[in-house]
Amino acid sequence: MPDNVRSYAVAHLAGDGIGPEVTAVARDLVDLAGKQHGFTIDWRHCPLGSEHYLRTGEVLPDEVLDGLRKTDAILLGAVGSPQVPPGVLERGLLLRLRFDLDLYVNLRPAKQRPGVDAAGADDLDFVVVRENTEGLYAGAGGIVHRGTAFETATEESLNTRAGVERCVRYAAKLAAKRSGKLTLVHKTNVLTNAGSLWMRVAEEVAADQGVSLDYTHVDAACLYMVSDSGRFDVIVTDNLFGDILTDLAAALTGGLGLSASGNLNPDKTGPSMFEPVHGSAPDIAGQGIANPIGAIWSAALMLGHLELSAQADSVVRAIEGATAARVVTPDLGGTATTRQVTDAILGHLS
Ligand code: ATP
Repeated sequence: MPDNVRSYAVAHLAGDGIGPEVTAVARDLVDLAGKQHGFTIDWRHCPLGSEHYLRTGEVLPDEVLDGLRKTDAILLGAVGSPQVPPGVLERGLLLRLRFDLDLYVNLRPAKQRPGVDAAGADDLDFVVVRENTEGLYAGAGGIVHRGTAFETATEESLNTRAGVERCVRYAAKLAAKRSGKLTLVHKTNVLTNAGSLWMRVAEEVAADQGVSLDYTHVDAACLYMVSDSGRFDVIVTDNLFGDILTDLAAALTGGLGLSASGNLNPDKTGPSMFEPVHGSAPDIAGQGIANPIGAIWSAALMLGHLELSAQADSVVRAIEGATAARVVTPDLGGTATTRQVTDAILGHLS
């Protein structure tokens, strides 16, 4: 290999259901982009997920986590299966990776693609920066008096100044690179404690970064995403609101099959993790019809994070080449298979 070829170690955590199908083809795209642009990926297979859990009882062994820490990035398919009780993999694998690798930003772009007949506005193009390690997902709370009439269940939303500040700072820097406009989405009129903290921090950080700050209640944000999405460019919000809003954004741009995400450690003290927004979709697994665009776009976000921005852009342009030509899977109203969509995208990659 010539000395000037950059090489990156990427863990391939294919997971369950359609996860292996869509990440296998995302790897093909990344490998071709590497051949064209002078980088290589040392893919490291990581067999975690439902099948591994059911066979071994292991969710995320410490030594596997230590191995993941030594990689440059993680490409994740999806985990989950009807055979595994809810929460085991979500908390034990996905949330543990987010927390232990300090992946404090969940980056979810939403953009209309040419040729995709979607419910949102034709010019819809915004990014949601979701706080990824705190809020209601932090795991604070519990159940007492289980099984009695007085059973009480609590989930507490944790919001630290440091945690909110670093997330908002990432979003403000991103806004500065885009239109200069940041929108905080929260529910400050009801969640007055957390809302006050988020608002004060957002005002401080926006002033510091020289971006304008707008505020929208989360319920109104749902309405505006449908009726007036042009008002949004970079949205910053907490963990739960971000989770819900980005599914709406996915629906407005063509569905879960083409939505991408990055779980980022922006300080790069460890690897970041990239995954399509969809889950394991057991209903279509093994049929060869899963839409690979969410996984391929997630791989493009990974290239961008590895500072291969031109290469990331070329993958996104190739995706748009395929959608514009209407080579799309049944979820987007087409008849193409996962392989045919991938081949069309590969054909547009330059
Ligand atoms: P999980 O429990 O892992 O979240 P799920 O089936 O409950 O899985 P998703 O996988 O997110 O949830 O998907 C919901 C439905 O959307 C699927 O059943 C499938 O029909 C459709 N879907 C999701 N991803 C894709 C895709 N990549 N291509 C085509 N259809 C998809």
